Amino acid sequence: MAMPNRLDLKVGYRCNNYCKHCVIGDKRFFIPDRTTQQIKDVLYAEKDDYQEVVLTGGEFTVRNDCMEILEYAAGLGYNILIQTNARRFAYSKFCDEFLAAGKGRIQTVTAALLSANEYCHNYLTGANSYRQTVKGIYNLTKRKQSVSINTVVTKTNFRTFPDLATLLVRLGVDVFQYAFVHVLGSADKNILSVLPKKSLCVPYIKKGIDIGRKAGVQVFVEAVPFCFMQGYEKHVSENYIPHVKLNDVTNVVNDFEYIRKNFEKEKAPKCKKCLYYNICEGPWLQYPRTYGWSEFEPVTKK
Ligand code: SF4
Repeated sequence: MAMPNRLDLKVGYRCNNYCKHCVIGDKRFFIPDRTTQQIKDVLYAEKDDYQEVVLTGGEFTVRNDCMEILEYAAGLGYNILIQTNARRFAYSKFCDEFLAAGKGRIQTVTAALLSANEYCHNYLTGANSYRQTVKGIYNLTKRKQSVSINTVVTKTNFRTFPDLATLLVRLGVDVFQYAFVHVLGSADKNILSVLPKKSLCVPYIKKGIDIGRKAGVQVFVEAVPFCFMQGYEKHVSENYIPHVKLNDVTNVVNDFEYIRKNFEKEKAPKCKKCLYYNICEGPWLQYPRTYGWSEFEPVTKK
């Protein structure tokens, strides 16, 4: 088995958004953030085994020491990926200082934007966040920083995906991804209002892909299996997910891919007939346990 090559480092769970679909849920209220030194220790200990680190949380940029950590990671030679809601990047001074602290080693800033509709995005994030997030993305692309967008697919936002794709093309992002909601944490608590039927979302996802494709922007879809994505198979992100070691606040998962495939996703007995059986991971397991398998049709010819 290939070894993980990316370190996913969760710095803590504090965040300035309160997303209805957040997998972290209430952890921020009872698990303290890691200290600066704890984070530096992990970065130092892993530097010879991992070339790439994802600085994530919670929200990395709400930490007062985010620049110090970033500078330290860059100094150790990591290629750096940032996961963020991008709100603090709305402040030009913060944006400039952050990119300078990354010393040219920030490969991608992955920002979470849920909709091109302000009310929809604000509703889902539980905060008045839309304008800051869009401005933050704009500030980053304007400075030639590579930006990718992650959009969690929920009941509330999927109909806005064509408009969102148009906005993202205008903002000049390099990549965008639709990640089907993973029912954990707050998403579990809000399951009835959050979890959509895949067959309802897919036409809107495909329209978004078409818009991105036409503009030369890469688009991916996570946790929507191949049987829904006929004609769009190369956009299924499970084709490309790197091997990841997850260094979480309270535990370490050496091979996240193994856990994801064997304990977090599942396939139906009928999937054995499908041409994609060996490369498909199936949906997050909470999906068929909620809605069953009737929408999943094994693909028997391409
Ligand atoms: S293996 Fe199952 S879930 Fe995956 S594409 Fe085929 S039918 Fe769909």
